[in-house]
Amino acid sequence: MSFILKLTRYKYSLRFSLLITLIFGLFYFISNSIFKNTFILSDFILEYFIILLSLFVIFFFIIQWNIERIVKKDIIRLIKEISKDTDLNNNISNLNLDAATIDLIKLIQARTTEINVLKDQDTYRKEFLGNVSHELKTPLFTIQGYILTLLDGALKDKSVRDKYLKRAAKGVDRLINIVLDLDLITQFESGIKIVDKKKFDIVELVQNVFDLIEIESEKSNISLIYDKNYSKPIYVFADEERILQVLTNLLVNSLKYGIDGGRTEVSLVRNDDKVLIRVSDDGIGISKEHIPRLFERFYRVDATRSRKKGGSGLGLSIVKHIIEAHSENISVESEYGKGTTFSFTLEYFKS
Ligand code: ATP
Ligand code: MG
Repeated sequence: MSFILKLTRYKYSLRFSLLITLIFGLFYFISNSIFKNTFILSDFILEYFIILLSLFVIFFFIIQWNIERIVKKDIIRLIKEISKDTDLNNNISNLNLDAATIDLIKLIQARTTEINVLKDQDTYRKEFLGNVSHELKTPLFTIQGYILTLLDGALKDKSVRDKYLKRAAKGVDRLINIVLDLDLITQFESGIKIVDKKKFDIVELVQNVFDLIEIESEKSNISLIYDKNYSKPIYVFADEERILQVLTNLLVNSLKYGIDGGRTEVSLVRNDDKVLIRVSDDGIGISKEHIPRLFERFYRVDATRSRKKGGSGLGLSIVKHIIEAHSENISVESEYGKGTTFSFTLEYFKS
């Protein structure tokens, strides 16, 4: 294969040197046949074959050397233009044609990847700005509506005034939550936010979250339970505050997207160095096509239902960032109409 490739690379030099040699040979043949009285072909071949072959080889090397020189000059010029690396600029002049070609290919591949990344980032940035303004617009217009109505005279009616002020305050809370969530995501993405790991009992933490959202679970008529009785502590090595946030997000989701009379079960499975935490519900479930995008910021399966419940689609994005900041993984399994299970791992603390 490499032999054929080499032949293709030399094909121009081979062709031209053959052509020039043949022309030279032809002239020689004609001049010999005209000026020599007795011309014998076999003598001619014997006499001059070596000379013609030597000429062919000499022509070949001269042409090939010149082609390589010109091509290399162009490749180096291209590398210098494409590359921003000044060190590279100084070294490439010493490379041979093969090495310079490989360098050029590598450079083009790197630039293509860079361009693709920049294009993706640009699309992402546009989408992100669109999503942020859309999410902020809704509560802002709600707040503005209530304030304008109050200014238009509703202030005088005490019951209307209190009701509208409470609704405006709710809108402000929603705005603050969105901004805080976005701020947290940005901190994780820019690497500012790092997790502060310490030893804690995950059994106790899950129970604390159950207690924290008890009122919400009663309102939704969904029971929050463990799959079995965990009588002994299970220690993990993680950021307790952030894991509380993860569990709260997942458990609140199971209430928001659960069914009346349903149940959400948490199970903890320990092996030698990890603890697997599973949050399973028997709620509305998620159909397959939504799963790959579920952890994207602002992504909602049913935007209307989610927004009605005060959601902006940032919760799972934060959850994923937190788990990944622990160098662990989170996954989801779901069946539409049947329920959803989120599973993630944490480092087991061996005492
Ligand atoms: P936020 O958490 O920011 O208040 P949200 O709950 O809409 O808003 P995520 O928690 O990121 O956003 O969830 C994204 C989407 O995934 C939700 O809108 C919902 O459609 C779907 N989803 C999440 N958890 C469940 C679940 N347990 N059952 C069914 N659907 C779910
Ligand atoms: Mg959520």
